[in-house]
Amino acid sequence: MTLTTLIPARPVTNHNAHPAAIDVRNLTVRYNGDAAIDDVTFRVMAGDKVAIIGPNGAGKSTLIKAILGLLRYQSGQITVAGDLATLGYVPQHEDVNWNFPVTVRDVVMMGSARQIGWLRRPSRADWQRVDSALERVDMTAYGRRQVGELSGGQRRRVFIARALAQNADTLLLDEPFSGVDVRAQADLMNVLDRLNSDGLTILLSTHDLDLAFHRFDRVLALRQRLIALGTPQEVYQTDILAQLYGKRLVAWHEGETVSVFVDEHGCADC
Ligand code: ADP
Repeated sequence: MTLTTLIPARPVTNHNAHPAAIDVRNLTVRYNGDAAIDDVTFRVMAGDKVAIIGPNGAGKSTLIKAILGLLRYQSGQITVAGDLATLGYVPQHEDVNWNFPVTVRDVVMMGSARQIGWLRRPSRADWQRVDSALERVDMTAYGRRQVGELSGGQRRRVFIARALAQNADTLLLDEPFSGVDVRAQADLMNVLDRLNSDGLTILLSTHDLDLAFHRFDRVLALRQRLIALGTPQEVYQTDILAQLYGKRLVAWHEGETVSVFVDEHGCADC
């Protein structure tokens, strides 16, 4: 992918005015002794919209799962502003089995089972909350469809609705743009922008540098260690990107403009 210009979508959040939604200190996560995340420290402020970038295997999914409390970590500390129920999760699409016969509304309602209680039948108010969550992600028309019929981008939006129905104030999304077409990416990004304007905090991993640098307030560059965290301008530096992608990074300069290309597949020894 190429980048030609770098203009942030909107003014960057004033971090001093907002409390931390997620505070990660000296986090190390190992699988069988190998560090997938190594001594990572950063904060995501309430209302922030942050993209995590890094090559395959950089630890992006691991970081998201650690924040969600889905895996154990060896050292460090993770603090979230609310309890874990305030974190909504949109997993990678391959982590989800969509072949069971339930409707979109049922899936969104399932996310609220903890609040409603497993044995109580959902009330009219519960269904209203589900429908209003579907409306916020532009999925009202699909409420009675089987989830198996949905496209990849629509499934991501159903997961977001599920999080909204359980009153999440922070969304963590793992590669939501992968495997979805350009139109669906745009629809999803529009939904995320709107939710962010409504005050939701968004932390999302992506391979799409164009989106990360053009549509997010801050970019977190991860390769086991935290390479950089800052505004798109601060992180869009060839030395930072070279630390991230090694020989996969191709950068060239035309006057003031730097364009980069990351070849995710073409480098056997980097
Ligand atoms: P990313 O999301 O950036 O591609 P991951 O967090 O999936 O990175 O993986 C980081 C590293 O941890 C990789 O080397 C990966 O092979 C390893 N890893 C991820 N999950 C497991 C697991 N369940 N068991 C062992 N190793 C894992």
